[in-house]
Amino acid sequence: MRLRHKPYAMEMIETYPQFVIADPEAYKGSWGKLFGNNNPIHIEVGTGRGRFIYEMAKAHPHINYIGIEKFSSVVVDALQKLIDEEVPNLKLINKDAKDLTVFFESEEIDRVYLNFSDPWPKARHEKRRLTYKSFLRNYEQVLVKDGEIHFKTDNQGLFEYSLMSLAEYGMLLHYISLDLHNSDFEGNIMTEYEEKFSSKGNRIYRVEARFRN
Ligand code: SAM
Repeated sequence: MRLRHKPYAMEMIETYPQFVIADPEAYKGSWGKLFGNNNPIHIEVGTGRGRFIYEMAKAHPHINYIGIEKFSSVVVDALQKLIDEEVPNLKLINKDAKDLTVFFESEEIDRVYLNFSDPWPKARHEKRRLTYKSFLRNYEQVLVKDGEIHFKTDNQGLFEYSLMSLAEYGMLLHYISLDLHNSDFEGNIMTEYEEKFSSKGNRIYRVEARFRN
């Protein structure tokens, strides 16, 4: 993602603590209280500018959504959507997802979305990929027993790596699509990256994965 420095980002985030949760560790085990209900919680790791999670939250009011994005200059675009039109079942976290288990209690989360994660193609950067085993371990810890990871990308190399990584971890893979936009999958909500790369003719790959009980 090309980052544009936005000097106002931190101030804007601090102005809206009801939307960007400054101290997610304080809600570990009690996110339901913050949302005011016990609905399932779905998180997106690497939310970017937030279109996917914002539209998902509007489309599914009985699910709580949390978007996690490490760059303040990016998460402010997701925040702007909430400022323009508040959606009560969506919160944002401006932190690195490597600390997921600090933010969430075990089995507190029902689903993890990974959309167009950075591919980190160099072998020496494998540990940064959001489908690397250390991240999978964290997802497994915070997810309920039958919780799922839903992953999509236009990057064939990252997709193939991720299928291997998920399978090697012992996960069950379902609904593998090698061309999502020409499949019978219904209700797809496009991310900003998805729109950009599919309009260039790139195929979109998708998989759902579940940890074995
Ligand atoms: N999901 C969005 C989309 O599809 O439009 C954004 C995709 S962008 C290529 C990947 C995003 O993931 C970037 O904004 C990056 O900052 C974020 N990201 C990568 N690693 C992360 C991590 N460990 N924790 C939080 N965010 C992360």
